[in-house]
Amino acid sequence: MHRHDLSASTIAVSAGRPPRVPGGPLNAPITFASAFIPGGESEYGRHGNPAWEAFESVLGELEGGRALAFSSGTSAATALFELVPTGAAVVAPIHSYNGTLTQLHERSRKKQIELRLVDISNTAEVISAAEDAALVWIESPTNPALEIADIEAIATEASRSGTAVAVDNTFATPLRQKPLDMGADFVVHSASKLLAGHSDVVLGAIVTNSGRAWRALESRRRTLGAIPGAMECWLTTRGIRTLHVRLDRAEANARELHKRLNASPLVAESRYPGFSTIIAFEIAAGPDAAQTMTEQSSLITYATSLGGVESTWERRRRWAGEPTTIPEGLVRLSVGIEDVDDLWADIRQAIEAVS
Ligand SMILES: *Cc1c(COP(=O)(O)O)cnc(C)c1O
Repeated sequence: MHRHDLSASTIAVSAGRPPRVPGGPLNAPITFASAFIPGGESEYGRHGNPAWEAFESVLGELEGGRALAFSSGTSAATALFELVPTGAAVVAPIHSYNGTLTQLHERSRKKQIELRLVDISNTAEVISAAEDAALVWIESPTNPALEIADIEAIATEASRSGTAVAVDNTFATPLRQKPLDMGADFVVHSASKLLAGHSDVVLGAIVTNSGRAWRALESRRRTLGAIPGAMECWLTTRGIRTLHVRLDRAEANARELHKRLNASPLVAESRYPGFSTIIAFEIAAGPDAAQTMTEQSSLITYATSLGGVESTWERRRRWAGEPTTIPEGLVRLSVGIEDVDDLWADIRQAIEAVS
């Protein structure tokens, strides 16, 4: 059986393992070393580590390209933005991840890039902004507005004008969306979220099909020192082993909770794109009540971040940097793998307590 015939769940379980030799371990070891004996692939801990490679080979096989691990999703994005020629245009969603937007605005203020913010679900607007741009940065679904981009249409048009397309695939994961197959040049991940899956790791990655781009990004990683820890890569490789099972369960929970939220007269609106594990909703009682609600739930944890086995929620506008086009009372709920009736009982009592 050829590996490229394997389904994603089999790849998640079987990729990135050491060769099967008598006495060998089933899992890649965690190598804690800042220096290596000369004559091998790398001599220094900033240049490479066997634990990085195990993670990179699983994620690369899942996305259909070659992966590079970074210290965080943000430093993976940094490495990519570093490849944009000075002064060139970058197109990005107005509702991108907060940290990504902060960095793009900073680069724009320093005249390193020309930033063009667009509604990423408006394909015509994106294509017209992308025409003479160096890079289109896509998030789909966006965080936290959950808008969906037409990646295929954008990538087709962008390739005509030589514009590179990168997709932040943190929410969808390669199990629900494979951007490289849809024509994108780069996939970027915050592996801190669903890939690692247990809220115990900060890690990032980029995947690409281009050998030239891979080498340029590897050089950025070395030169900027944005390297991952061996432990983080090992934990995330272990997390990916169960990604498909966690995702199926959390998605089923999210679908059901979205249905029940929308049926409640105390809920103004619930958004769910139909896949992945994030719901964005507003309650009829308004933003102050929503803030109190998130702080008073008993099962769902009041916390930022997302994609863990445990459910978390927060009102996004509590962050000063959140775009003002995000509704003041919007609550982002990251659905975990608990029992759905227990989750609903907690959500219902929390909404009723503030309504
Ligand atoms: C969390 C997140 C990031 C940033 O990743 P870090 O690992 O926290 O640096 C980027 N994009 C999205 C969609 C995220 O949710």
